[in-house]
Amino acid sequence: MKCRVCRGPAVIDVRRHNAGFCREHFLKHCRDQVRRALDDLAMVEPGERVLVAVSGGKDSLALWEILGHLGVPADGLYLGLGIGGYSQRSAAATREFARSRGLTLHEVDLPGDHGFDVPAAAAATRRAPCGACGLSKRHLFNATARQLRYDVVATGHNLDDEAAVLLGNVLRWETGYLGRQCPVLPAAPGFARKVKPLYRLGERETAAYCILTGIDYIVEECPMAEGNRHLGMKAMLDGLEDRSPGTKAAFLFGFLERGAPRFAEASATERDALGACAECGSPTTGAVCAFCRLRERAAGPGRATEKTASEPDGAAILEPDGVAVPEPGAVAVTLRSAATPASG
Ligand code: SF4
Ligand code: ZN
Repeated sequence: MKCRVCRGPAVIDVRRHNAGFCREHFLKHCRDQVRRALDDLAMVEPGERVLVAVSGGKDSLALWEILGHLGVPADGLYLGLGIGGYSQRSAAATREFARSRGLTLHEVDLPGDHGFDVPAAAAATRRAPCGACGLSKRHLFNATARQLRYDVVATGHNLDDEAAVLLGNVLRWETGYLGRQCPVLPAAPGFARKVKPLYRLGERETAAYCILTGIDYIVEECPMAEGNRHLGMKAMLDGLEDRSPGTKAAFLFGFLERGAPRFAEASATERDALGACAECGSPTTGAVCAFCRLRERAAGPGRATEKTASEPDGAAILEPDGVAVPEPGAVAVTLRSAATPASG
């Protein structure tokens, strides 16, 4: 197989493009796709401060690297979930990435700062851990961005993630979520803008990008992923993609172009119905937001009032890493460290 661009030996084939690429042109292809996402959807305006949510996995580290390569400076935020050795190893991979490149990494620790971890939340709610985990992530990413005055939160959701979320939402006709399923969620009072610059790249591409650029990411899967509905959707789409390359991209991009606008109204109506959480003031459909309720159950009432700051959270979305949680609330943000100093 030859590189589509230079006809040199290819190192990877991208089936949905029916094309092979040499190392140089594959890296360019990945960066071009991110550039296109940033430009087409005006994800980051000049001078805006960007916070990348990093987990130590291939997607978020590739995103952080590509943003730097494209001249979009960004700091990182790592959220410690308290999932045993897995969390320790993912933190180590993230810190090493930041340290070796002289990037600034902020850290928030769910057990240390909020008194509960993901296994405790799962036990307290008697639900799959991914729901509580996804809720905490969405909440803390936004709260930290607001506290540290970042304009934009960038996450590493890729094409596979977004197509799987779309399938899940379509199968249940989650019209509110469908209206908000866009690679950009605009800023609003209490909400930083949320962007997904990798939505044009498949996860095989982000993995290859890491390997070809020497990014040492954590390969192991989260031990609590079992039963995650999102993974089932991904597996189904993988089967379709195998038979008919390009299906995922056609499904997602076709929806964004022709389907999403039709659901915008349902989404707006749900947002209008949000009130303020009695505990923390963040948007919620009930009296107390989902995060405050979760913390009360998982950490106990004593911890529930230990807060250093309170910020509203982002709109509810069916995330790849969780089930639909319709009312994320605000949360205390205690930064454990503003880690590695930026190099000159
Ligand atoms: Fe959290 Fe579930 Fe992802 Fe594990 S698999 S990190 S529990 S969302
Ligand atoms: Zn609350």
